[in-house]
Amino acid sequence: MLTDRDKPRSDALVFFGITGDLAYKKIFPALYAMAGRGRLGVPVIGVARSPWTVSQLRERASQSISERFREVNQQNLAAVAERLRFVSGDYADPALYAELSKELGGAERPLYYLAVPPSVFPVVVKRLAESGCAKGARVILEKPFGRNLSSARELNAILRQAFEEPDIYRIDHYLGKEPVQNLLLFRFANTFLEPIWNRNYIESVQITMAEKFGVQGRGRFYEEAGAIRDVIQNHLLQIVSFLAMEPPATSYHESARDEQVKVFRTIRPLEPENLVRGQFQGYQQQQGVAPDSRVETFAAARLWIESWRWEGVPFFVRTGKCLPATTTEVLVKLKRPPLIRLAAGETNYVRFRLSPDVSISIGARVKRPGEQMISDPSELSFVHQPKGDEMDAYERLLGDAMQGDPTLFARQDGVEAAWAVVEPILDLPSQPLEYLPGSWGPVEAERLADDVGGWHCPNCVEGSSG
Ligand code: NDP
Repeated sequence: MLTDRDKPRSDALVFFGITGDLAYKKIFPALYAMAGRGRLGVPVIGVARSPWTVSQLRERASQSISERFREVNQQNLAAVAERLRFVSGDYADPALYAELSKELGGAERPLYYLAVPPSVFPVVVKRLAESGCAKGARVILEKPFGRNLSSARELNAILRQAFEEPDIYRIDHYLGKEPVQNLLLFRFANTFLEPIWNRNYIESVQITMAEKFGVQGRGRFYEEAGAIRDVIQNHLLQIVSFLAMEPPATSYHESARDEQVKVFRTIRPLEPENLVRGQFQGYQQQQGVAPDSRVETFAAARLWIESWRWEGVPFFVRTGKCLPATTTEVLVKLKRPPLIRLAAGETNYVRFRLSPDVSISIGARVKRPGEQMISDPSELSFVHQPKGDEMDAYERLLGDAMQGDPTLFARQDGVEAAWAVVEPILDLPSQPLEYLPGSWGPVEAERLADDVGGWHCPNCVEGSSG
């Protein structure tokens, strides 16, 4: 069998939308990091409508890299700059693709990265196919993959006219994050965890992805998305799948994605009664936001996974803007032992902090010194990496796609199954509940988790309601 490492590496990188925000924030820094590891080694062609020159593109790359890294290695910066090419034109104009084809020279396996708004995907894909540029190529798409189940299917049908499924790489950059991968590794590389990782020992699972900031001038974009589309359908369900999936087989490289899809298919589609939507006070006054907007900037939901392993264990997910902290944290709460007097207070748990710093800890109770048999909470920390001490997700994912390794990318059946979970709660007609910036969302969200002792407060040592 051909393994991913045996597949031919992409021999050119092409970024549609190189003038945009994503390229500035993520792609140039990733290219620079790759150059630093000696892993770039191919021409990098930027494509955009803006009539830039190559020098302007180099200047932009340099600015982006200098902003991202405190110390810039001039040799690596030069390695990026000298590989940059630029092609400008209308994305619908066949002449653009003729020009692109010339720039590609003899490249046999180019990798196209569609860093353009999703409305532009169809025309680019169509022209790539018509011009022959799609032959032998791979394509990376940015989320969102559709706005619901039917549009995700439509988008896929368009893609499949030009590319085979193994050549389509749908980026959910969360999957490329080191701490997210550690969820999977920690679960399956440690014998002590597996016997307790099920409904017999686990009481509940909570995942909070909180942002302290608001929409940061991207109100128009956010109006099209909202918290459910922007975070729950993709990032949070991906984390749920890593926590809940069965062990993948090591002999079959699609196995991890198969297991993820099985989890999505066993999550009961979300119903409004298991959901609280919120909107921070002042959202409607943001630039690009409708004055009567019903878009949620906060969502908390209770999920049920109908499987042998997880029957009866609630999974809570919560995300929002303008919350008290910017952090992503998972708390897996274990059931209380029978001798309640000895274990009064917070029960045992496994906690994964995915950002801003990375940690994996186990919460246990130990005897307080002295005459009395009472216990205090204590945490054993296995990993603790300070902020930023990790390979950036975009660098990893770009490298994987160039190598033809799709493991950390969303597969179409997974994307569809995840849309099916949130489909009943998309575009609800009700107004989301208002909450104060700096709070943990509407008070109604607290009630969702009342029966398991409330939400864990990320960044608090002793678990408590947020
Ligand atoms: P931008 O809005 O910055 O657009 C990128 C580029 O696309 C622009 O520079 C512009 O280049 C071109 N473009 C914009 N609008 C149009 C249009 N209507 N028709 C044709 N071309 C257009 O997008 P981002 O860089 O923010 O995002 C790119 C993709 O990545 C999107 O799919 C987005 O959803 C996704 N994404 C972005 C994230 C981010 O942090 N920015 C995070 C996660 C995903 P020009 O006019 O020069 O051709």
